[in-house]
Amino acid sequence: MQKKYDYLIVGSGLYGAVFAYEMNKAGKRCLVIDKRNHAGGNTYCENVDGINVHNYGAHIFHTNDEFIWKFVNRFVPFNRYTNSPLACYKGKMYNLPFNMNTFYQLWGVTTPTEALEKIREQTLPFTKQQPKNLEEQALMLLGDDIYSRLIKGYTEKQWGRPACELPASIIKRLPLRLTYDNNYFDDKYQGVPVGGYNALISGLLQGIELRINTDYFSHRSALHEVADKIVFTGSIDRFFDYRLGRLEYRSLRFEHERKQIKNFQGNAVINYTEREVPYTRIIEHKHFEFGDQPHTVITKEFPMNFKDEAEPYYPINDEKNNRLYKKYKSMADDVPNVIFGGRLGCYQYYDMHQVIGASLKAAALESFRHVY
Ligand code: FAD
Ligand code: UDP
Repeated sequence: MQKKYDYLIVGSGLYGAVFAYEMNKAGKRCLVIDKRNHAGGNTYCENVDGINVHNYGAHIFHTNDEFIWKFVNRFVPFNRYTNSPLACYKGKMYNLPFNMNTFYQLWGVTTPTEALEKIREQTLPFTKQQPKNLEEQALMLLGDDIYSRLIKGYTEKQWGRPACELPASIIKRLPLRLTYDNNYFDDKYQGVPVGGYNALISGLLQGIELRINTDYFSHRSALHEVADKIVFTGSIDRFFDYRLGRLEYRSLRFEHERKQIKNFQGNAVINYTEREVPYTRIIEHKHFEFGDQPHTVITKEFPMNFKDEAEPYYPINDEKNNRLYKKYKSMADDVPNVIFGGRLGCYQYYDMHQVIGASLKAAALESFRHVY
C-alpha cells in the first residue's frame, strides 16, 4: 500500500527546510517534524518589539557560491550587513579578525611590513614544529601576544578544554590579513535576511506540512509507517541509541535581556576573550538590521557542557570523536531509506551555506534516483 508521504523530514532547520522545498517542488509529498515549538532550527528569530533576536546565537550568512546566494535571496532579501566583531580583553578593545587594525592596537605598527616583521618575531619560537593542535597552530601563525590575549581564554571557555587538546582546524576558520579590513569573512556574499531568518524558513516550507512539538524518538515506529524515506537532521549517535558510545558536543546557554537604552555596545558582536569572564560574547541584535528603536536586546552566550537536556550546538571534531563518527557513518550507510544530513546528522562544524549546499546536493541526488 502506498504510504502517505514520500519523505519524513526530521528537523526544520536549514537542511530539512531546503530538502523539503526541493522535493515538494519535484512533486513529492513531505512531512516535516521538529521537536521544538517552532521551525527554523538554530536560525530561528524572535521578534521582540521590532527587533529580530537571533534566539540561538548570532547568525550571519556568508558564502562564495553565487548559486546559494541567489537561492536564499529568492525567499527573502538580504541586507548588506558585514560582520566586524570586536574582542574585549581586560577592558581594551581589539578588532577582529586579525588584521592591520589589530596589529596596530597590539604593537603600534602601521604598515604591513612592520606587522609582518612583528609577527615573524612573535612566531619565531614556534615555527619549527608541525602544529598538532589548536594552540600550536595559533602560536605558529600568530605568536604569543595574540594567542594569550585573543585566543586562549576564548577558546578554552568556548570548548571547555585546553587549547592543546583541540583540533587546529577550529582556528583555521579565522582569516589573517595585512590590510585594514575588519570583515570577519573572506566570502564574496554576506548579509542578514531583512526581517530575520524566519522569512527564509517560512518561504522554504510554504505549502509543506509541518508538525512542531514532535520528537521523532517519541513516535518512531508510527512515523516510519507513514513515509517511504526519512531525512534525519538530529544527532546521529542518538539515532543509533548510542550503540557505539556517545559523540561529544559543546552546548550553550543564552541569556537574553531587553534594555531601555538605544545603543548598548555600538556593535552587533563583542567577544570577551578573558578566561575569567564567564560568557564568550555579547550580541546586540538590532545592529544586524541597522535598527533605530528606542530600546535594545542583548544576548550573552555562556558555553556549557553537553548533557541531559542540553542542546548539542557544536560537534567536537577532534580525532577521538571523528573516529567514532566514522563508525556511525558506516552504520548509517547501511540503513536503507534514511538520509543523514546537517550539522548534527553529519557531525560537522558546518556553517549555513554549507548545510544548504549539502541539502541541495542530496535533493538533486534523490530526484536523479527517481528518474533513473
Ligand atoms: P539545526 O538548525 O540544528 O536544525 C536541526 C533541527 O532538528 C532543530 O530544529 C532540532 O530541534 C531538530 N531535531 C533534532 N532532533 C530532533 C528529533 N529527535 N525530533 C524532531 N526534531 C529534531 N552559521 C553561519 O553560516 N553563520 C553564522 O554566523 C553562524 N552562527 C552560529 C552561531 C551559533 C551559536 C551556532 C550554534 C551555529 C551557528 N551557525 C552559523 C551554524 C548554523 O546554525 C548551522 O550551520 C545551521 O543552522 C545548521 O542547520 P541544520 O538544519 O543542520 O541544524
Ligand atoms: N576564536 C578565538 N577568539 C575570538 C574568536 C574566535 O579564539 O575572539 C576561536 C575560538 O576557538 C572559536 C573559533 O575561533 O571557537 C571559531 O570562531 P567563530 O567566530 O567562527 O566561532 P562560532 O561563531 O562558530 O562560534
